Amino acid sequence: MRTSLRWQILGLYLGLLVLGVGGLAAWSGYQLKRSAEERAYHELVAKALIVAAVVQEPLEHHRLPQAVVAGYARSTGARVVVLDRRLRVLASSEPAVSSHPTVPRQGWGVEGSGRRLYATVPVADEDGRARGAVELSVPEAAVLAPVRTAWAALAAAGVVVVGTVAVATSLLAAWITRPLRLLTDAADAVAAGRLSQRVRVEGAEEVRRLGSSFNRMAEQVEAMVAQQRAFAARAAHELRSPLASVRLRLEVLRDKVARDPVALEFVDDTLRVLDRLRRLTDHLLVLAAVQETGAPQRRPVDLAPVLYELVEEVSALAADAGLRLEVDVPPHLPEVLADPEQIGLAVRNLLDNAIKYTAAGGRVTVRASASDRSVELVVADTGVGIAPEHLPKVFDRFYRVPAAGRGPEGSGLGLALVREVVEAHGGRVDVRSTPGAGTEFRVRLPREASAVP
Ligand code: ADP
Repeated sequence: MRTSLRWQILGLYLGLLVLGVGGLAAWSGYQLKRSAEERAYHELVAKALIVAAVVQEPLEHHRLPQAVVAGYARSTGARVVVLDRRLRVLASSEPAVSSHPTVPRQGWGVEGSGRRLYATVPVADEDGRARGAVELSVPEAAVLAPVRTAWAALAAAGVVVVGTVAVATSLLAAWITRPLRLLTDAADAVAAGRLSQRVRVEGAEEVRRLGSSFNRMAEQVEAMVAQQRAFAARAAHELRSPLASVRLRLEVLRDKVARDPVALEFVDDTLRVLDRLRRLTDHLLVLAAVQETGAPQRRPVDLAPVLYELVEEVSALAADAGLRLEVDVPPHLPEVLADPEQIGLAVRNLLDNAIKYTAAGGRVTVRASASDRSVELVVADTGVGIAPEHLPKVFDRFYRVPAAGRGPEGSGLGLALVREVVEAHGGRVDVRSTPGAGTEFRVRLPREASAVP
């Protein structure tokens, strides 16, 4: 069973306390009862001796009317029974004792349905000869009434003590576990990519040390990741110029071999590979840029012209692939706070994919619309679609659906870039797809007034 530390502390404290307080209360209660019983018995004996002294003379002269015995009972607060030498009842303050036992009763005994406390003393004449006996008795309830009040007081005190300690322990447990909870939240935040997350160093010494260690570790991780990002961005940047220069040379070479079909095909293939390499470096550069905080290039932009430009760029590609390209974008859209190049590259990736994964004769649609709070861009196709088991993973870096598409082209970075760019702009991207029927990507970006800076 998994129980939180807070409940474990509370359970342990309360368990020990209930045992301790309960044990103490039970022992005190028992002692109280015993001393009350002893006191009641001694008092009863003392009263019986007094009654025995006063009944001695009337007993000798057989003058013991019921009314006299009843008077003794009132003054002693006990039932009074006067017995003869053979312990037969001569007089009783209550009528219920006609068949009296033949041994004198002392201490606790059972009578009818209840217990009574008895004290029996002999009545002797002046010469010391036994004339009879006097038996005083009280019901158990009368003996235990004061004890019951003390028990109730003990129980109430126990409940108050346990309740107070429960509240205090609960507060103590919360104080102990709070820094741990904050640490767990911070660790979750770092795991989710918010590397700048730190914790306040507070609480007990051990927890403070843990907090400091966590902060040091998070700092190291953040520095290492920043270093790696800077390295990837730098490497991609450094690759750009040599790639451009190789492309330039190949284009010159292409003119030279224009009449040699084999060489021409070879050069064209190489140019295509170069284009993929360039796109890959572009993706890496944008991915490195979106992770930088501050995003200085963001400004209020109308994305409608950006979309028209992109449609223009890919229309030849779509036509070559035998696809119909449909556009449903208003001339202007409300402004969003964005880096138009990054958003442009993201939508371009969606368009490239739509074209890449749709067979000839199909359709690619670009739509845009605005609501009160956001601008929505949709790229839909009637292509191969994505099976449900792959859908949650297509936005991961380097994830490619196995054996999808027409060829090996693609790096698996396209959709990762889309998601990271869109989320860095405070938006979100969703995908819906039916295998064999088509796919629809929906990008929602907050309008300028509500944009996340
Ligand atoms: P790639 O470079 O492989 O296209 P992406 O990150 O752009 O990488 O896409 C990841 C995977 O998602 C692709 O391998 C492809 O299988 C699938 N995918 C993306 N867009 C579509 C689409 N419009 N139709 C069908 N599958 C798609």
